[in-house]
Amino acid sequence: MVERVERVKKMGNKKKGIALFSGGLDSLLAIKLIQKQGIEVIALYIEIGFEINLQKQEQLEKIAEELGVKLIIVDKRVEYLEKVLFSPKYGYGKNMNPCIDCHIFMLQVGFEVMEKVGGDFLITGEVVGQRPMSQRLPILNLINKTFSNSQLIVRPLSAKLLPPTLPEEKGWIKREELLAIRGRGRQIQLQLAKKFGLSQFQPPAGGCLLTDNSFSKRLRKLAKKGKITPAEISILRVGRHFEIKNYRIIVSRKEEENKILKEYCGERFTIAIPKFPGPVALVEKRDNKIGELNKERNWEKGIVSKKNENLEGKKRENLTVNSNLSNKKNISNKNNLSNKKNLSGKTNLEREGDAREEREISQIVADLIVSYSRFQTGTVFIQNRNLIGYSHSKEEWYPYLL
Ligand code: SF4
Repeated sequence: MVERVERVKKMGNKKKGIALFSGGLDSLLAIKLIQKQGIEVIALYIEIGFEINLQKQEQLEKIAEELGVKLIIVDKRVEYLEKVLFSPKYGYGKNMNPCIDCHIFMLQVGFEVMEKVGGDFLITGEVVGQRPMSQRLPILNLINKTFSNSQLIVRPLSAKLLPPTLPEEKGWIKREELLAIRGRGRQIQLQLAKKFGLSQFQPPAGGCLLTDNSFSKRLRKLAKKGKITPAEISILRVGRHFEIKNYRIIVSRKEEENKILKEYCGERFTIAIPKFPGPVALVEKRDNKIGELNKERNWEKGIVSKKNENLEGKKRENLTVNSNLSNKKNISNKNNLSNKKNLSGKTNLEREGDAREEREISQIVADLIVSYSRFQTGTVFIQNRNLIGYSHSKEEWYPYLL
């Protein structure tokens, strides 16, 4: 590490700062304060896979353009899952947010990128006392102690509350032009945004799903089932997740998510798309039961229609929707089933069990779609001249939410 500091000491006058960039106001202001001193800044966004905003990249590009900085995006999702998320040395915050370890990880990545692009120091938008877990003064000191080259971490928004860094000592940066912001207030930052003419930035602290209680619960449950991949995290970010009769069912919450779920449906999921405007649903294939049967079936034909019993065996009233999803004729197609027997070696009883299970799941998926359809008006709606009455409310599904 000393070598790195020495290397920086020996460099010429033109300095380059690498800024950890989240798109939030603090990181933008930190960049501005350094840029103002005539130093080239490169914005570095580290993708860890827990961003709420699904259009993040697009927005980051716009912000970087407005700032006039080059943007580097590095994908560290796998590394984050393997090294940080499930074994944080300094524990979690209120939810699944390992903020201290996360900061350390980001700085580590920052130093790696700095080496690669020939940067001279790191810039962060941290503010002393702003976050209860990761930005208290003792924690910033602890984070610094992790790095033998911590003298190269500049925190322009709170610099005057912290010991001078190497770039300040060497006169690359004028300490007097840096700030001494402390605490959770946003007034100073908002005034500065106005002063610098910054119009685009992300809301403070609202961007990380790991701080979200229900997302964290889902993540914990998923983690108990085995190794998690970035692809699974991506799907966990989208839709409402239910676990019903050991099947995971994901129902989209808005049109934007319909598109994502349709694209995501692949090897692992089967998709159900209603014929009317409404949410699509993914059903996770389990033990290949649904997967096998779906080779002969098209789940995209519509949604279920008929009187039936709900999951608890209660009589449901007036549920009528047209569909192939629960079309018994399709499911009990004898040829298909006997082929299955040859291929899978299952007994008739087992195959019937599979078909019954699939019918039930089909019905449940259809019910979910109707429950969350924007056409639902109380207990009745009309679609394609079918009178569709419906007794479920969304609340009835809540116990099954993941
Ligand atoms: S809020 Fe999320 S992204 Fe930010 S430090 Fe904590 S875990 Fe990392």
